[in-house]
Amino acid sequence: MTAAKDYIETVYQKVEKRGPHQAEFLQAVREMFDTIEPAIEKNPQFIKWNILEQLAEPERVISFRVPWVADDGTVQINKGFRVQYNSALGPYKGGIRFHPTVNESILKFLGFEQMFKNSLTGLPIGGGKGGADFDPKGKSDEEIMRFCQSFMTELQKYIGPIQDVPAGDIGVSGREIGYMYGQYKRLNGAHSGVLTGKPVSMNGSLARTEATGYGLVYYTEEMLQSNGKSFKDQKVVVSGSGNVATYAIEKVHEFGGTVIACSDSNGYIYDESGIDLALLKQIKEVERKRLTEYADRKDSADYVEGSVWDIDVPFAIALPCATQNEISGNQAAQMVKNGVYCVSEGANMPSDLDAIHVYLENGVYYGPAKAANAGGVATSALEMAQNAQHGHWTFERVDEELKAIMKNIFKTVEETAKEYDLEGNYLAGVNIASFLNVANAMVFQGVV
Ligand code: NDP
Repeated sequence: MTAAKDYIETVYQKVEKRGPHQAEFLQAVREMFDTIEPAIEKNPQFIKWNILEQLAEPERVISFRVPWVADDGTVQINKGFRVQYNSALGPYKGGIRFHPTVNESILKFLGFEQMFKNSLTGLPIGGGKGGADFDPKGKSDEEIMRFCQSFMTELQKYIGPIQDVPAGDIGVSGREIGYMYGQYKRLNGAHSGVLTGKPVSMNGSLARTEATGYGLVYYTEEMLQSNGKSFKDQKVVVSGSGNVATYAIEKVHEFGGTVIACSDSNGYIYDESGIDLALLKQIKEVERKRLTEYADRKDSADYVEGSVWDIDVPFAIALPCATQNEISGNQAAQMVKNGVYCVSEGANMPSDLDAIHVYLENGVYYGPAKAANAGGVATSALEMAQNAQHGHWTFERVDEELKAIMKNIFKTVEETAKEYDLEGNYLAGVNIASFLNVANAMVFQGVV
């Protein structure tokens, strides 16, 4: 065993001992640690400064009670969190998730991924993540508002435009950001760039809503073109039907591909003629209804209960845009059998470790989330820049910057893989490049 390998395993065992039940966090750490051995070998100072153990512990985990009153007068209690994961590269930056499954393990894994992802954008942002085990589904607007106000009453003690700048994630879109922003402003008496993903009328950035989905497709197109392929005339399956999925579908169609299926947490719609995006947006964004409605209104579509990754039809490209661990090893194997040669991740950690092995063994062009979905946070950083300048950029300017950032991330990933004699191993390229950015900044700053 090399000194680097020995160091990695010793640290992993410590991390496992510290939080044996934090399955999602351990999975994210394992995936990263499995690929960075060559970078540690080349840089023994990372062992000297015990960088891995520092990286595997967030700087701070804040948890708090979120009390609120439901429409029927009952008092409800949720648990809120902010994980301020790593500030080596800048203020903590990362979304807020409202979903009943939210817990410390999930937010630590998301914060861990976020710090590496943010470093790939080349922008001065550290990593963080937050949220609550609150289920927005079926709640009235008034309930959502009261919850957001209570959540922000506590969170505002820990955030600020140069300390920690949250954004949206699952269950948190413009509406929720608006309510949280209003409460922050009331409590602090200041309009400030403390949240991103704000509605454009409240100093938000044009193209932020579209950014993660568009960025995913820009990154994937770069990867495909580098291998002599493209989205054009390809059949694509997207999971989810939320913010990331919607704008990924829009851009795939612009690039000449056809998205034949998308999903929600109950099932999926299969529409061989291509998902009708105007209808999807009407149902999901305007009416806030379930996907079953789509099949009710469109003759060419079928609704199927269960995971979209059990779909048994030929297609070429998979864009998981729903949630963590949505693709298992068996599902990945079936996809490959059905002709899938590219998987690129809009969601965070949507492929479990077995699925990733299947991609690598079968030469699937793989876009790991840390790189492929970095367009959202990159555009959030552009929103911070606009807020700091008290200015607004056009949609076209933000979109151009986003394109350039995604292109540049792919170039870095490709070159890093080559530099480490791992040409075409984009997972290694992503993990090594992002690790080096954060680790070097930490060595530079000393043990703090
Ligand atoms: P949304 O809340 O807008 O949409 C989430 C979608 O995923 C919904 O269709 C939802 O279905 C589905 N989903 C959620 N949980 C599950 C589950 N357990 N099983 C199956 N489907 C599920 O969230 P976003 O689109 O913003 O986020 C999607 C993913 O992208 C997340 O992993 C997020 O971390 C990641 N991401 C988001 C960014 C952003 O800018 N928004 C940036 C980078 C990454 P249902 O409605 O039934 O719950």
